[in-house]
Parts: sequence; C-alpha cells; structure tokens
Amino acid sequence: MRPDVLETLVSLAKRRGFIFQSSEIYGGTGSVWDYGPLGVELKNNVKARWWNAMVRERDDVEGLDAAILMHPKVWEASGHVSGFSDPLVDCKACKARFRADKLADAQCPRKPSKKPGEHTDCQLTEPRQFNLMFKTFMGPVEDSAAVVYLRPETAQGIFVNFLNVQQATRQKVPFGIAQIGKAFRNEITPGNFTFRTREFEQMEMQFFVEPGTDMEHFERWKQARLDWHLALGLDRDRLEFHQHGEKELAHYARAAFDINFDFGGSLGFQEIEGVHNRSDFDLTQHQQFSTKKLEYVDQAANKRYVPYVIETSVGADRVTLAIMVNALREEAVPGEQEGRTVMGFHPALAPIKAGVFPLTKKDGQPEMAERLAAALRKKFNVFYDEAGAIGRRYRRQDEAGTPFGITIDGDSTANNDVTIRFRDNMGQIRVGADKVVEVIAKYLEADHKTADSALVG
Ligand code: ATP
Repeated sequence: MRPDVLETLVSLAKRRGFIFQSSEIYGGTGSVWDYGPLGVELKNNVKARWWNAMVRERDDVEGLDAAILMHPKVWEASGHVSGFSDPLVDCKACKARFRADKLADAQCPRKPSKKPGEHTDCQLTEPRQFNLMFKTFMGPVEDSAAVVYLRPETAQGIFVNFLNVQQATRQKVPFGIAQIGKAFRNEITPGNFTFRTREFEQMEMQFFVEPGTDMEHFERWKQARLDWHLALGLDRDRLEFHQHGEKELAHYARAAFDINFDFGGSLGFQEIEGVHNRSDFDLTQHQQFSTKKLEYVDQAANKRYVPYVIETSVGADRVTLAIMVNALREEAVPGEQEGRTVMGFHPALAPIKAGVFPLTKKDGQPEMAERLAAALRKKFNVFYDEAGAIGRRYRRQDEAGTPFGITIDGDSTANNDVTIRFRDNMGQIRVGADKVVEVIAKYLEADHKTADSALVG
C-alpha cells in the first residue's frame, strides 16, 4: 500500500499557500476550502489544460458558461428533486452520521479501529434518504414558490442549451458542449481534504451522438480521457478504470466507467472522473417537462431524433488533489544531512515556472536579476527572491514545485550568463541571459519526465 500523504499535504498546502481551510479564523466551515496564491495558479493551469484539450484543440466541441441558478423545474426533469439523495444513518449513541452505502469506508468515532455498527455501543438507525441539493430562495419572499437550488452538477446547463448552441454554431451531430463551473452538494460525509467537499468545481462535456453510434463514441472518450490524465503526469500505475456493475449503474445510464486514482493510504483508489453513456434520458426528460422539442434535424439524411449523450465529468478540485498527491515526494539529498520535500509537478502545471535568485545582494547582481525577472514575467509566472542562503531559497521553490531556478552570480554580470537549476535532479546548466526565456519555453513544452538537465546537449 502506498503511504498516506494527505496529512503531510494538508500542512504543506497551508504553509506554502496552496489551500487554506475556509473561514479558518472562525474555526472553519465544514469541508469547504480556499485556494491560496499557489493553489489558484495550479488549479487554473489544470482548468486551462482541460479547456484547451476539450474545446480549443477540437472543432467538434463548443464552450459554454451556464448560470448556477436554474429554473427549479430543471431539477424535477433531471430526477434530482426526487432522487438525488444518499441513504443517511445516525448513531444514537455518539450522534455521528454516516452514508449507509459507505459504512465500510467509515470509522466509529468512539473506536476508530472499528467500522460503525461493529463496536458494541453503536446504535445505528434505519437508513433514510437525504437530498443533497442546497436550497435557497429567489427574490424577497421566502416561500415554497420561490425555492431555487444551487446546481449539484453543471451538466443540466448544457442539456437545456443543447439547441441554442447547436443552432448558433451550426454544429452537426456528433458534437459536444463543454463547461467548467461550480457545483454544490450537501454531502453527508465530506472529507479527506478536498476529495469530497460541499462546494467544488466540475469540468464536464456532453457529446451528442446519433443513437446506435453511442458505444463507439463512449469507447473513444474513455481512452481520450485516460490519456489526458496521463499527460498531466499522473503515474500510469496509479490510474485504473472501474466499470459500474448493474447495481451501481444509474437508472438512465447504458454504461459507465470511472477513472480511479490511487490516493494512497486508507483512501486508496478512488474516482476522479466519470465517463457515462446517458442515452437520450436527459433530453427526453427536458422535452417532456418543458414541452419544447429538443430534436436534432439531420437534413442530409432527412431524419430527426433525440441524440444520445456521452458524458465526461471530472472534478477540478479532485484532479488537482490527485496531482498534488502524485507530485509530493520527500527524499534524501546526496551529500547533505537534511532531505528535501519536492512537489514534482509537470512544468506546465507548476504554479510558478521559475525562481530568480541573485547570489548576493551586491555587485549589481540584484539589478541584473530584477531585469531578468521582469523580462520573464511577460511570459511566465516568476518568483524573485534575494533573501537568505541560496540552498534555502532552492528548497522553498522545490516545495512550491517550481521547475527552474535561475541564479545570478559573480560571473553573471561580467559574462551576461546565468545558471539554470532543475528541480527534479538538481542538475545545473549555464546559459546566456538572453537565452533563458527560450530555454525554459522549450522545457515547458517537453514531456515532463524529460524536462531535466539531461535534455541539454
Ligand atoms: P460519489 O459517488 O463519490 O459521491 P459521484 O459518482 O456522485 O461521486 P459524479 O456525480 O459522477 O460523482 O461527479 C463527477 C465528478 O465530480 C467526480 O468524479 C468528482 O471528480 C467530482 N465530484 C463529485 N462530488 C464531489 C465532491 N463532493 N467534492 C469534490 N469533487 C466531487
């Protein structure tokens, strides 16, 4: 079993400004998290890569940004009002609450080595259904006619805009619509840091296809999505497909696979993305509830039909957590007593691309370093640091996951060159100051496993 790194990660995330607990000075809000200066850059990089791969690099997927608040009937049509619930059990003895279908993953608060129900004092109630949607009121009157929901998934904003997008863009089936946005679920048992939270971001794509061609598209998307995770640098042996069996399969789904990632420790392999064949369920439901036709007219073939939908749904926060877990390593440094902590992010995902360090605060070094940092900032996120021992400064950037350290020393001002130090193997190369942007850009484009000093011929 891989070691449990979540605890180390939670403290590093706070110390270095990746992730803070929400409203911490008030004692925190249950399972809601804030992204700090490094975290927001990391998550934005993840979202940008998804958007590029899913929308910009394809001519058969269009982007959308639908509102969080929707007509309440949307959630009746989608089945969320009646069915988006988890079975909840209470323990009368210790007052703890659990998801009845996840008891095997839970701990008895009185005896953490046991599962709820296994300890002699446990008094579990019968399960009752608890709806996970957050309710609020639209307008000044707080009555049942004004109830709206915070969306529990972004997908419905895509379904209700299917014809708007198709007609505006004149896309032909098969084509997709993608969006990134917040979703809210009043989870019974949130936890494991940002793995399961009550407010999170989803990156979802619905691909509309002709019935009968759905399984072929499903297989293609399954593979494309696994490849996307691999290209982020997630280790192959930490990823697996999990197929939903009959019991797990949602009533509307024809097939569903999760992409699971090994978070290590007791959490182990868990879902980070779902790839689903949703049939024509959603569009048919919205047709019925809205009484508006949601058919696609295939003029060339002279036929009309309600398309089937292949959905890919990934949590931006959950995949960011997977990237952090995958990246974190604590290792010995040859010839040094103290080891180091490294966030070995793919350079393209790293919140800061380069640290710029004058070796000393004299002899024109800070001036040259500041000039270089200013030039680099036009292209990349750069951190300038002139305080403390150089080894210390490198270590701080190793923890932030910064792939390149650029040092200006006594020779730099005379020769107009600098040292680039590589985070992963700590190798160094000497390059002309005017070549730095070019060299770093080359490494950012390269596969990250080769983005080290060994590349330099
Ligand atoms: P679970 O069974 O774990 O509750 P789910 O199967 O309901 O999850 P989906 O509705 O398929 O999840 O959501 C798609 C993706 O959204 C998930 O793979 C995950 O990455 C993300 N996600 C879902 N719920 C949460 C949450 N509470 N916190 C963070 N991310 C979430």
